[in-house]
Amino acid sequence: MELTQGFLDRATRYISTKSDNLIVNPFNTGIEIVGNGVRVEDKAMLAKWAKRKLVTQSMILKLVDVANKKGKPERVQSYWNTYHCLERFYASNGRLHGKYCKNRICTLCCSIRKAEIINKYYPIMNQWNDPHFVTLTVKSIPAKELRRYIDGFIMLFQKIIDKHRKRHQRGKSIALKGVRSIESNFNPAKRTYNPHFHITVAEREMAEIIVDEWLSRFNERHAASWCQKIIKVDSIEKNLIEIIKYGSKIFTEVDLHKKANSKTTPYVYVSALDNILTAMSGHRIFERFGFNLPAAQRTSFKQNITQFDEWMYDPGLRDWQNVNSASVLSEYEPSPHLEDILLNRINTSIE
Ligand SMILES: [Zn+2]
Repeated sequence: MELTQGFLDRATRYISTKSDNLIVNPFNTGIEIVGNGVRVEDKAMLAKWAKRKLVTQSMILKLVDVANKKGKPERVQSYWNTYHCLERFYASNGRLHGKYCKNRICTLCCSIRKAEIINKYYPIMNQWNDPHFVTLTVKSIPAKELRRYIDGFIMLFQKIIDKHRKRHQRGKSIALKGVRSIESNFNPAKRTYNPHFHITVAEREMAEIIVDEWLSRFNERHAASWCQKIIKVDSIEKNLIEIIKYGSKIFTEVDLHKKANSKTTPYVYVSALDNILTAMSGHRIFERFGFNLPAAQRTSFKQNITQFDEWMYDPGLRDWQNVNSASVLSEYEPSPHLEDILLNRINTSIE
């Protein structure tokens, strides 16, 4: 096997991550795996993964079409990487290991990342005395403005944090402490985007400072004061789950005003989703400010396995099938509702 620099770079990256991962051993003496993997018998977990795999692949095929139509080959490549995420499982000692794409759009990787963030942040944020949740928005904008607004939002927010850190050092203000994530909704009826920040801060006063600073930088027409919200946080865990959703919502309601009705069938607007992902690329979606995490625990142990069972994902079966037999891993069956969404409700033109 000839090793390209790209392969080595990727291999190094896989080893250095903390989540479960694996590389194919370049000398063909087995498979190198990192982390604990998931139990082969955990059917409930595997069914969840199979569902995410199905949703992701269905979306990705449409996103590839969209990116091709827009003439964005680098995005096409990145989407294909996600298409192949967790394509194979290697089972050893009753546990499954696979290779992840780590892309933002991937529902498999997002669920893993979400769990990692909760594990890291929950113990710290749960100690905060009076956490508050802030939403910062501006007026909705068309697609062509999205990149500029998101770049601007992030820069502006950093300025606010820096200003109060310096004032705090001079004894004039409290230092702001919290986490923030950036997200954009899409309104298919108006074809506009609504980039916004979700922020959780340690104390109410910090929330008030942030909202005041935000409003002082926009006029009322661009950022109405009633649109900026401060809510007391009751459950840090629920709050964390809410704010670490990645930069875009995959399912969008047909009409945002009908959002209250949970029976409204969602539509997916992949061209708009591609616009949001493009505008967010290069930015951290989730970020902390004003505090540090404890030093990283040791990275997951590595081991080389030579005896393993191999399972490969079959899009027709919607499951991973053993390469040497007919048995499947998850026995997942999508609901008719999900089948309907994936078959009939992915729109590739509205943006
Ligand atoms: Zn992935």
